[in-house]
Amino acid sequence: MSEEKSLNFIEEIIEQDLAAGKYKNIVTRFPPEPNGYLHIGHAKSICLNFGLAIKYGGKTNLRFDDTNPVKEDQEYVDSIKEDVKWLGFEWAQELYASDYFQTLYDYAVKLIKIGLAYVDDSTPEEIAKQKGTPTEPGTGNEFRNRSVDENLDLFERMKNGEFKDGERVLRAKIDLASPNMHMRDPLMYRIKHAHHHRTGNEWCIYPMYDFAHGQSDSIENITHSLCTLEFIPHRELYDWFIEKLEIFPSHQFEFARLNLNYTVMSKRRLLQLVNDKHVEGWDDPRMPTIAALRRRGYTPESVRNFCDRIGVAKRENIIDVGLLEFFVREHLNKIALRRMAVLDPVKLVITNYPEGQVEQLVAENNPEAEDGGGTRELPFAREVWIEREDFMEEPPKKFFRLGPGLMVRLKHAYIVKCTGFKKDDAGNVVEVHAEYIPESRSGSDTSGINVKGTIHWVSVIHALTAEVRLYDRLFKVEEPGNEEGDFKDYINPDSLQVLPKVYIEPALRHVSFGERYQFLRKGYFCLDEDSSEDRLVFNRTVSLKDTWAKEAKKN
Ligand code: ATP
Ligand code: MG
Repeated sequence: MSEEKSLNFIEEIIEQDLAAGKYKNIVTRFPPEPNGYLHIGHAKSICLNFGLAIKYGGKTNLRFDDTNPVKEDQEYVDSIKEDVKWLGFEWAQELYASDYFQTLYDYAVKLIKIGLAYVDDSTPEEIAKQKGTPTEPGTGNEFRNRSVDENLDLFERMKNGEFKDGERVLRAKIDLASPNMHMRDPLMYRIKHAHHHRTGNEWCIYPMYDFAHGQSDSIENITHSLCTLEFIPHRELYDWFIEKLEIFPSHQFEFARLNLNYTVMSKRRLLQLVNDKHVEGWDDPRMPTIAALRRRGYTPESVRNFCDRIGVAKRENIIDVGLLEFFVREHLNKIALRRMAVLDPVKLVITNYPEGQVEQLVAENNPEAEDGGGTRELPFAREVWIEREDFMEEPPKKFFRLGPGLMVRLKHAYIVKCTGFKKDDAGNVVEVHAEYIPESRSGSDTSGINVKGTIHWVSVIHALTAEVRLYDRLFKVEEPGNEEGDFKDYINPDSLQVLPKVYIEPALRHVSFGERYQFLRKGYFCLDEDSSEDRLVFNRTVSLKDTWAKEAKKN
């Protein structure tokens, strides 16, 4: 049954605007501040902005809102470009708010000239106090009545570097009694003798975000300027600047940001995790950044499908990270090459299998693919590694794996029957013994025996070794940002488990960064960039089943 997807509220607005002939083509933009790596929340904004332009035949710019020189860096610009490209989108133009510094300065001069901006010598504390409260109007000060000429002179001298940081600011002269605090003479420019990653030392005054953002949209003729709900109260100010400056009327529309449980999503907090070394870096696979998801083995398709599914709404909610995992499982199930890897090995000796004999079994790469994804050779011999948990000395009823007298199928190979085991002095099982049934070979099974369980294995003499990294949620609680105290107190101490030596089947000799693998019964894996010629490292992207959903049901 195909379900016609209804339009979201932004699509409705766009369709009305296009039908009314308001615009010939829509123009959107994705406007990150280059002060950190992008996270999955940004992916939602990217998919929305680029998706709309694709759907309605418009274009999308990538604009860096780089007005705060102290926190911004070229490293972040580069990572943002890589992430947007990886998600599969192409921007029409790469733009920088800092390219508009001169234009924005001229806009400010224009507002001064028409009496709508003034230089204020008050301290930040005084300004805050004079702003009043939501229930009390602000009080002005003597600087508000400065003449146009004095303001022009002082603003120019601010630009020329005659004053120290914080000595003066430029403010818009709007309405100190406005119910909207953002309209009570907001700051437009501050003095900051700081090096900017693009304009160097050319400027020592920088526009406030609120004086740069809306005008940048206007300069670029953005028709639909999309942002998150917290910017609703700023809209009145952006519209005021546009009206007074008589420039292109961009319109802002606000949607609910994406919140995900068991993580934090502000760049400020993510930076703390990196700086305090709670994670290895911005792309540590446990982080909610796009770089981390990529490294962990997520595919762009799965992230886009997730963003598509959560849609856009006008009300905030929290999305279960299980939904993101659902989408990556769904995609990886279609594309992953099936391989066998034994993560916690114990040796199984098939005592009736001829010593020195090797059979090259053939197995499909991916039963979900149309032609089975081609085949691979799978060597079978007398000794194979199996998972320790697939053998039990005293198995309970309904344990359909190995235990004294029990039978199981070795995937793609034979049925074996457990005949015994060996323990070391400490009582640990070190070897399991079994006999195989020669007629039971997969594909030509004439044994007539039915077994309930199938387990994976790797031939001992053919096995390669690898390191495997298993990840769990980075936080123990659903909303670490909303708990009492520091969010970092809620970090899950067991979020990373490193298995230094696991056995993997020899077909994984031809491993590549682009491929995705399903290690049978163990989950989806990808090669980590820490791998080298003689050391393979795999990340588990996601397990095959949602173990947390099971936990939740139990509780
Ligand atoms: P953060 O609060 O995480 O530090 P930000 O809002 O400061 O992020 P920007 O670089 O300003 O980050 O964001 C670029 C764009 O991405 C903005 O339009 C912003 O509204 C949007 N965006 C940021 N976080 C989310 C989110 N969680 N969900 C949807 N869109 C988001
Ligand atoms: Mg921001």
